[in-house]
Amino acid sequence: MMNLAATKPASVKPFPLASRVAIVTGSTSGIGLGIARALAAQGAAIMLNGFGDADEISRTRDALAAETGASVEYDGADISRPDQVAEMIERTARTFGSVDILVNNAGVQHVAPIHSFPVDKWESVLSINLSGAFHAIRTATPGMKARGWGRIVNVASAHGLVGSPFKSAYVAAKHGILGLTKVAALELAESGITANAVCPGYVWTPLVERQISDQARSHGIPREEVIREVLLKKQPNRRFVTVEEIGAVVAFLCSPGAASITGAAIPVDGGWTAE
Ligand code: NAD
Repeated sequence: MMNLAATKPASVKPFPLASRVAIVTGSTSGIGLGIARALAAQGAAIMLNGFGDADEISRTRDALAAETGASVEYDGADISRPDQVAEMIERTARTFGSVDILVNNAGVQHVAPIHSFPVDKWESVLSINLSGAFHAIRTATPGMKARGWGRIVNVASAHGLVGSPFKSAYVAAKHGILGLTKVAALELAESGITANAVCPGYVWTPLVERQISDQARSHGIPREEVIREVLLKKQPNRRFVTVEEIGAVVAFLCSPGAASITGAAIPVDGGWTAE
């Protein structure tokens, strides 16, 4: 007969990521910062990354450390540069002792029809949104394998699952990162390392907030109409995803309960890709 006592879940620790070190690329604002906050709240030490005003980044880092009690450092690596990505991984391992969680979140967008899509924009979207994740995974996984534990989370998009006109580079990169996620999951499946992708719909970030005001001005319509008729037309629940919701999904993927989830692309899009 089955021993039911043996199937009881392990007791839930208050800070389940207390001994873990996480790098979140593109975490000086928006979704990346929300993910860093969620992982820090679970006890992980955090390496922030991304561009921005040095004083503001310093304040963000101090606030995150004060709010969560986590150790928080910052690395300004340009994710489009393979050498800088590798140095960031090595510096983080030197600073904190390991890299256990890698969240590839840095991303940019450019909108134009294919026939006039600027070639340099194509190259830069692909290098930041796709190749950067490859270089980070390539450099971080030997250490994870040596320790027998790791979590890779790639922030893709609903545009990793479906297309939209005028976003060729972004949609190609986001579809590509889902392929990279599957291959990483398969190669690492026996090493205690999972690799998954999160596919957000529209998320309320400072970037999107700016778009709302700009579009309201240029269309001469109220911001509520821009949100409903322009931005959220594709999102059946008609509201933005929040950075806290994305952070919660990523924290779950890093938790013991998600140990058997690997190679998955998880939509967090209010039903967009269900249609
Ligand atoms: P954001 O502009 O607020 O944040 C992007 C972050 O990436 C910033 O920290 C920025 O400094 C950093 N970054 C940009 N280029 C970089 C580079 N070369 N090297 C290092 N850092 C760099 O945008 P966001 O909305 O928070 O987007 C974060 C991720 O989520 C992106 O991958 C984006 O494609 C994805 N996403 C966003 C939405 C949305 O609606 N906001 C929806 C789906 C997916």
